[in-house]
Amino acid sequence: MSRKETILRAAKRTANEAKSAARKRSRGLIRSESEPHRHCVVCWAPIPLDSDPAVCGKRDCEETQKKREKSRKRLTVMMYLFPAIAIFFVILEIV
Ligand SMILES: [Zn+2]
Repeated sequence: MSRKETILRAAKRTANEAKSAARKRSRGLIRSESEPHRHCVVCWAPIPLDSDPAVCGKRDCEETQKKREKSRKRLTVMMYLFPAIAIFFVILEIV
């Protein structure tokens, strides 16, 4: 088999694969997945759009989300607290 033939055959196969993929898509197999929804922030499972907090019903996900929320709040507090302390010491130096 010549090199040209091999390439031609590979190209045809690729074209056929692309065609069948397009057919699958148009048949609506993927449509159901693209309806408006959001994802659980922990396990990424699709959940209703209006669910808040954005977690699925699983307990693991709820606990993980709670922990994340807590550490995020702590980080926010520290972000304000540390500059405040620094400013306090600067003022203390001046006085
Ligand atoms: Zn989840």
